[in-house]
Amino acid sequence: MSVKVNNVTKLYGKQKALDEVSFEISSGQVVGLLGPNGAGKSTMMKIITCFLPASSGSVTVNGFDVIQNSVEVRRLVGYLPEHNPLYYDMYVKEYLAFVAGIYMPFSKIKNRVGEMIELTGLQIEQHKKIGALSKGYKQRVGLAQALIHDPKVLILDEPTSGLDPNQLIEIRQLISNAGKEKTVILSTHIMQEVEAICNRVIIINKGKIVADDPVRMLTRHFRPEKVFLIEFNKEVDIEALIKLPFIKTAEPFEKCKWRITSIDNADIRPQLSRFAQQNNFLILSLSMEETKLEEVFQQLTGC
Ligand code: ADP
Ligand code: MG
Repeated sequence: MSVKVNNVTKLYGKQKALDEVSFEISSGQVVGLLGPNGAGKSTMMKIITCFLPASSGSVTVNGFDVIQNSVEVRRLVGYLPEHNPLYYDMYVKEYLAFVAGIYMPFSKIKNRVGEMIELTGLQIEQHKKIGALSKGYKQRVGLAQALIHDPKVLILDEPTSGLDPNQLIEIRQLISNAGKEKTVILSTHIMQEVEAICNRVIIINKGKIVADDPVRMLTRHFRPEKVFLIEFNKEVDIEALIKLPFIKTAEPFEKCKWRITSIDNADIRPQLSRFAQQNNFLILSLSMEETKLEEVFQQLTGC
């Protein structure tokens, strides 16, 4: 089940919210759409889900064009919009039956609603009004409505925003499970979320794609070096440090503390400790860090 976005531009008046965006997502991928506020994530999702037309370019879902074959696309796609709009005065079961009625004959509704309640863990809350539920449970109702017609593609716009840490883990688990058999595109600002559930990340900034990589590759691609943070017991001469083998850069960041990067990802901890020994320094602390996805995001979007 593929989603193909081809040269999509979206104008709101004179403002370009999306600027010639192209990507292709194949079956079984969980893709994180990452970007600062206003980057164009929700706009992209609204175009894929037939809520908004693009100004130019095309989008197809499993070969169906979102404009020409919008009904087929809607059958294939489940969508949880940003801020999860729900009818707070409806009961959970009543609402899910209402949504199911859009997609399936009356005879199938009851069973399907029961399955969804079980799948999303809504059993204890199923007889309540939606407005009375906690945010985490409202989110489950939102996921249940997105999944009710067993869509092949699931589009989730910031599905975990505003959840507490427990709710966050539960909703991520539900999304991961759905991702085992569906193509999932989710938007988020949370880097750890991308690392936890996505296998690919598309970073979007000011309407343009600035990175599109498997999650694991992204950090290596942009900042290949390891970073060593070291604290000596006295001031060290930069000339002496930089002369050590495999040292690429050395910058002091506090008194006697240095941030050092190595060439070819070399582990330079032995050199550093020999250096300290030979020059009668003591190492008070030494740690090695990999570049984090968060830093890559900051580099790419300037946030
Ligand atoms: P994101 O979801 O990444 O925060 P959006 O897609 O919501 O970004 O918005 C991208 C840009 O388009 C923003 O500058 C936003 O203000 C603008 N925008 C979004 N929707 C509309 C609209 N309906 N009318 C005018 N401008 C809009
Ligand atoms: Mg948004």
